[in-house]
Amino acid sequence: MKWYELSEKAVLQMTKSTKETGLASKEAKARQKQYGLNELQEAEKQSALLLFLEQFKDFMVLVLLAATLISGLLGEYIDAIAIIAIVIINGFLGFFQERRAEKSLDALKELSAPHVMVLRDGEWKRIPSKELVIGDVLKFTSGDRIGADIRVLEAKSLEIEESALTGESLPVQKQTAPLKGEDIPLGDQDNMAFMGTLVTRGNGIGIVVGTGMNTAMGQIANLLQNAETMMTPLQRKLEQLGKILIGVALLLTVLVVAIGVIQGHALYEMFLAGVSLAVAAIPEGLPAIVTVALSLGVQRMIKKNAIVRKLPAVETLGCASVICSDKTGTMTQNKMTVTHIWSGGTTWNVSGTGYHPEGRFYLGQREVNPNQAKPLQQLLMFGMLCNQTDLIRQEKDYAVDGDPTEAALLVAAMKAGFKRESLVQQFEIMQEFPFDSTRKMMSVVVKDKKDGKRYVVTKGAPDVLLTNSTKILWDNKLQSLSLVMSNEVKTAIDQLASQALRTIAIAYRPLMDETFGHEREAEKELVFIGLQGMIDPPRPEVKEAVKECREAGIKTVMITGDHVITAKAIASQLGILKPGGKVLDGYTLSKMSVEELEEMVDDVYVYARVSPEHKLKIVKALQAKGHIVAMTGDGVNDAPAIKAADIGISMGITGTDVAKEASALVLLDDNFATIKSAIKEGRNIYENIRKFIRYLLASNVGEILVMLFAMILALPLPLVPIQILWVNLVTDGLPAMALGLDQPEENVMKRKPRHPKEGVFARGLGWKVISRGFLIGAVTLAAFMIVYDNTPEKLAYAQTIAFATLVMAQLIHVFDCRSDKSIFDRNPFENIYLVGAVLSSILLILIVIYYPPLQPIFHTMAIAPREWLVILGLASVPTFLLAGSLLTRKSS
Ligand code: ATP
Repeated sequence: MKWYELSEKAVLQMTKSTKETGLASKEAKARQKQYGLNELQEAEKQSALLLFLEQFKDFMVLVLLAATLISGLLGEYIDAIAIIAIVIINGFLGFFQERRAEKSLDALKELSAPHVMVLRDGEWKRIPSKELVIGDVLKFTSGDRIGADIRVLEAKSLEIEESALTGESLPVQKQTAPLKGEDIPLGDQDNMAFMGTLVTRGNGIGIVVGTGMNTAMGQIANLLQNAETMMTPLQRKLEQLGKILIGVALLLTVLVVAIGVIQGHALYEMFLAGVSLAVAAIPEGLPAIVTVALSLGVQRMIKKNAIVRKLPAVETLGCASVICSDKTGTMTQNKMTVTHIWSGGTTWNVSGTGYHPEGRFYLGQREVNPNQAKPLQQLLMFGMLCNQTDLIRQEKDYAVDGDPTEAALLVAAMKAGFKRESLVQQFEIMQEFPFDSTRKMMSVVVKDKKDGKRYVVTKGAPDVLLTNSTKILWDNKLQSLSLVMSNEVKTAIDQLASQALRTIAIAYRPLMDETFGHEREAEKELVFIGLQGMIDPPRPEVKEAVKECREAGIKTVMITGDHVITAKAIASQLGILKPGGKVLDGYTLSKMSVEELEEMVDDVYVYARVSPEHKLKIVKALQAKGHIVAMTGDGVNDAPAIKAADIGISMGITGTDVAKEASALVLLDDNFATIKSAIKEGRNIYENIRKFIRYLLASNVGEILVMLFAMILALPLPLVPIQILWVNLVTDGLPAMALGLDQPEENVMKRKPRHPKEGVFARGLGWKVISRGFLIGAVTLAAFMIVYDNTPEKLAYAQTIAFATLVMAQLIHVFDCRSDKSIFDRNPFENIYLVGAVLSSILLILIVIYYPPLQPIFHTMAIAPREWLVILGLASVPTFLLAGSLLTRKSS
């Protein structure tokens, strides 16, 4: 028997599960142990050994190893062994950097892994879908991705898109009855739902019958292993730049070697020096450090509740010039409380706070019994009946399982003494048409068990419901909806909305015995009853975040399905809408072409009563104007706009799987202020990458130039090969990494967004690299020449001094790189990692200079203490000479 042939009872029996309580956690654990995780097998990962060996496949490193081998064969054992040791240490460094980068990317994947709602021990829980086992009872709703293969047990308007499996792009309607037939193709198994497919409408409950590789998806999993490439634009640019830099470094090295040979140095001596120089000067570690900086930044973002799903977004964040954000839940708290109720010209007030179901009803100052005012009573009762949300009692507070708007209606009804259980006993719910933000309504078809009468009960956006109503309950009488009355309702809506209240209207329609195939047929010819207005306070931190964004040259735009006046009121409170700013409603927007919208898009700050489909138009118009757009969304229909935006953002709490998968950034707390923090971090990460590019390249320029100058001046080699390699190891590793962890400069959020096409060397960086590099080379050579003094006996001592000066100049310069202005601009102790890295680098240098057993290996001699004055004095020149000088000003 196939699963689709079985009845619900048989499926439950076979899987040893129950629909009421699901599996017991213990049993689930045991099954997981026995059958494994619900995962598709991943392609083989590169082994650690291979990754380590990869570090040596670089052409210049191979040449260096070959050269070292030759010098070893020629008897220079110590040099050869030492060089090989350094190359291996360097390899380890690269290996750990890349491992770290890989690990944090894996951690990211884990964080954005899908979750499912599952019934365990009688309670609904959200768990990672890889923990599902056969027999688990699952709940899913529009926007969810199905976590395993399941047999559907309940389906309410359930439609699932299965194109990944069947190629059929139209969603399939699901039902629950068993099917007959032996080889029913997947596409026709309409009581089954398959792992990886997408719920596009309605909701349902099912039981897991296949997990991991034993799912329909698992059988074709091998076809699906296309890992997304995660290279960022900067990484790509650096890859190209890397090739150019290799070329330049090689060219200069050849020049150094050629001039050296012409000036009378032995070819063999120059060859090894040249190759060491090339290895040192080629910034081979750059890509790995960039990845590490990106992923460390990403981890900092996680601490601020932002998860980056696509690495390139980290860079794009720094370019964002417009944030389009949803209102409800992102700018507001999404904690709704009904405060006003209107019907037939009368407004009642409701007291109480939050979701506590305690409060009273007032007409003006006078307390009223809601059960004695018919329309009020009906509004409250229908608000509870046409409702898919549950209120869960917790120790001190109440939690909402579902939609906060519906929870508010539930609480209002409870304040009047209504109980869900009694209502459900009185009314049988025969059909349900769930809410969607395009229709802006939801309905149920109910049967009153007492008299057998049936109704459609609808709730939704008041203006929409009003258009679908032909009658109204006014003064307890059913009347046809006249123009006058309709205008009165509109005035009431506007009045509630102008107090920043979110409004929901409630209507009904008596039925004979119709049933409906589609909500379109049900939600018409309604009887309008009245309105409930609820507060949804703004999140306290949003106002400040909007202001900070403005200072950073980023415009905030509110996009909401809510009423124009409500949206306007909240946007004004948050400082998004300033006098003169425009508000556009969905109706006007839908009549406009992208070009027409483009004309005015820069003046619009609020889009209200829009449908998710409108968001795409807004993104396109903004992009046509040259903006880099961040766009938030949570529902299925938001996905196209999220994808089209430069930075698609989804909601961690209320977001659907579809929205999350389309997005580059997930807000764990659904909070607008988190977008601002992420942008700040994005800007900082980019600046940090620029900082260490600046540092590494200036250091390398210095290393090459000291050798080049020496050769031109017909001097001996100022540094021996092993010293060059040691400088490279000591200065390129830790200090560069620590720059990647630097704190943001104070003015990161006071500058305009970066232009996306801006090159790596923009804003004076190229000039800084060359001018500092030149000076580092010059002072190192000066230190060498002062001591060498054309006295060959002093050569080793002069080389040691040059070695120390070069390292110290670089280690001082690293602090200079922290600021766009000068070293004095920032407190050097702010970045303790950098201080630690620099101290350990100094220690590594002192060891090879002063520890006698290492001296012959590194060709060093102990430096007299007073010489350090000269070394430090010269080493500070590049940084201090340029601080505040004309050169700096010109460059920034
Ligand atoms: P955002 O600001 O994030 O776009 P929103 O909640 O204002 O969100 P929608 O969720 O699309 O936008 O809601 C649009 C309108 O639909 C609301 O103003 C409200 O009148 C109505 N509405 C919202 N939730 C429900 C619901 N569960 N049932 C019926 N009507 C609803």
